[in-house]
Amino acid sequence: MTIDRVHAAREIAGELGLDLLVFTPGSDLRYLVGYNAHPLERLTALAVPARGEAFLVVPRLEAPMVSASPAGGLGLDVLAWDETDDPFALLAAAAGARLGGAPSRVGVGARSWAEHALGVQRAVPGSALELATPVVDRLRMVKSAAEIEELTIAGAAIDRVHARMGEWLRVGRTEAQVGADIAAAILEEGHVSVDFVIVGSGPNGASPHHELSDRTIGAGDVVVVDLGGGTPTGYRSDCTRTYVVGGAAAPDVTEWYGVLQAAQRAATDAVRPGVTAESIDAAARTVIADAGWGEHFIHRTGHGIGLDTHEAPYVVEGNDIPLVPGMAFSVEPGIYLAGRCGARIEDIVVCTEDGVRVLNHGPRELVELPG
Ligand code: ZN
Ligand code: ZN
Repeated sequence: MTIDRVHAAREIAGELGLDLLVFTPGSDLRYLVGYNAHPLERLTALAVPARGEAFLVVPRLEAPMVSASPAGGLGLDVLAWDETDDPFALLAAAAGARLGGAPSRVGVGARSWAEHALGVQRAVPGSALELATPVVDRLRMVKSAAEIEELTIAGAAIDRVHARMGEWLRVGRTEAQVGADIAAAILEEGHVSVDFVIVGSGPNGASPHHELSDRTIGAGDVVVVDLGGGTPTGYRSDCTRTYVVGGAAAPDVTEWYGVLQAAQRAATDAVRPGVTAESIDAAARTVIADAGWGEHFIHRTGHGIGLDTHEAPYVVEGNDIPLVPGMAFSVEPGIYLAGRCGARIEDIVVCTEDGVRVLNHGPRELVELPG
């Protein structure tokens, strides 16, 4: 960890006319200074004034945790506050001293708690709050080689979980029972957190964000399994495969699943520098729509991934940002038939200098598991 990311954020803030950036616990803070702070009501914040050095405001009882984290080696001023202090006033005074006056435009992390964001605003009368998103997205969207390596490790771990699916996904078991086994395996394979486990069997598969229920899996059920977790360094995995359990899929399912597979491949193959995020969405959507299933593909094609499972760039119509090498995102078209079943195929991909690198490698066919 170096101070470079903080300095880059300061430079972009200056360029965009923001006087001060404030980041509370969450992935922006972790990205910028390496402090994976636990979100609590007491204010912990990284303040990045457009001029002068950044500083941390932390509860005194947590100051040793900052020193022990990578942030402790960055040479930042750490302003520790006591239980009866006003941490917002402390932050505002220190920022004002560096800026030579009160900040007027203040950017806060998009996933900051409202009580912290509004506390900052109250401490700087007349300031206007806005999202720091344009600053952090520009940095976080383009992954370094080290970050891509972390995403590769996360992808390989979740691939190993999918490869073991036949151990757990069986006729007569409930989604919840299968999900509990999968969650344990996500940790066994090297993740330190389970972010979500979706086992959408039969009609539940038509609800893209269904998680787990007490539904018992029946013979011939199509089952959408979407899994994700976090590695020790905080990078996320996210991979979906669709299975058929204890029987073959109906011929019409096989037919539209083939369309879905072609769409997922077309979108992946379209990834290269210079093309827009929305064109990747269009590459998948066109295949599905041309085959007559367009109304059943009810979500965007993908989302960026890094320290958050969902982050910029979003692969959706209307997002005309051009891809650059280092952008990492999901390609995950789906077809959902309400009341019957659904299917989704999801890989994490990285835009490279001349094309695409895919970080998930399990079979993308409809995988038949014995009952
Ligand atoms: Zn996803
Ligand atoms: Zn997913």
